[in-house]
Amino acid sequence: MRDVFLETVSSILNRYIVNFKALKQGEHIFNFDVDNDFFAEFKESEISRADVSVNLVMQRHSNMLELHFSMEGEVEVACDRCLDRFFIPIIYNGVLFVRLSDGILEEEKVDDVWYINSNEQELELAQYIYESICLSLPIQRYHGILSTSEEDCDKGMMERLNSMSVKDDDKKESDNDSRWDKLKDLLKN
Ligand SMILES: [Zn+2]
Repeated sequence: MRDVFLETVSSILNRYIVNFKALKQGEHIFNFDVDNDFFAEFKESEISRADVSVNLVMQRHSNMLELHFSMEGEVEVACDRCLDRFFIPIIYNGVLFVRLSDGILEEEKVDDVWYINSNEQELELAQYIYESICLSLPIQRYHGILSTSEEDCDKGMMERLNSMSVKDDDKKESDNDSRWDKLKDLLKN
């Protein structure tokens, strides 16, 4: 039963594997769709719904692969202001270099370059695509950002959140007051 489950899980991420071994030198183009099923594979992800097109132009050299990614679409995140979930547009362009070599020493390795053994046949790109989409998200996400509408913010929820934070402030002040009273009592004695 468990094996069946694992098989279906990996079959989703298998769509994002490129088998380069048989490819001739030169340019090769791949397209991937990133959807809800993709993000379901990443349990730690805050994104559960997505519709992103990934275009990959790969240059196959004798000992190196050069991968030019462009990703475009939208993903669903929570609004920082009203907590409601909404879709924001995503655009990402990046290059990944993969060196095929058996004899590279650890100290010769450079960040942003993948090193793989020359007898490898495939590249698993799901993790790279996932991280690229997460990195392209703005740090603050709220209705009104990147062609979304501020009008869509849940006004009722914002009022409730605001009144909660006012009550918190009141509470802190009264705590301070009672501490101050105790201190005054001590000073009197
Ligand atoms: Zn909002």
